Amino acid sequence: MSDCIFCKIANGEIPSNTIFENDDFRVILDLGPATKGHALVLPKKHYADLFEIPADTLAEASKVAKEVAATMKKKLGCDGLNLVQNNGSAAGQTVMHFHLHIIPRYVNDGQHILWKPTSPSPEELVEIKNTILG
Ligand code: AMP
Ligand code: ZN
Repeated sequence: MSDCIFCKIANGEIPSNTIFENDDFRVILDLGPATKGHALVLPKKHYADLFEIPADTLAEASKVAKEVAATMKKKLGCDGLNLVQNNGSAAGQTVMHFHLHIIPRYVNDGQHILWKPTSPSPEELVEIKNTILG
């Protein structure tokens, strides 16, 4: 994808603050971080989203995230950590190259990454389950 900014960053054509790299992935600091240390796991090959990325590449991305998360806990002293992965503009994806957000969390960091719960009835939940399983 010649016009994809994350392809260019992942493959080193555009400089970034890289905190991890191997043959298949680059992990960079997000330019608009939610918190100190917010990073993005970028596959070097272009996949738009979760629907396109092969399962084994996704598994490798998870391994990279786990390694980086441990480093963040050790080096940044974060109190918690969110893994976030958006797919489609309806879900908040703005860069259409698969990426996994690693967001270190700190007590009272003022961020709001969790969702607002809704209250479906038990019948509605069963209907949703049946739609998924049907
Ligand atoms: P998403 O909304 O899941 O698509 O996330 C895109 C993320 O990429 C946002 O958190 C942006 O701050 C970040 N971002 C966009 N462009 C760059 C860039 N050139 N370098 C680093 N992070 C970027
Ligand atoms: Zn790309």
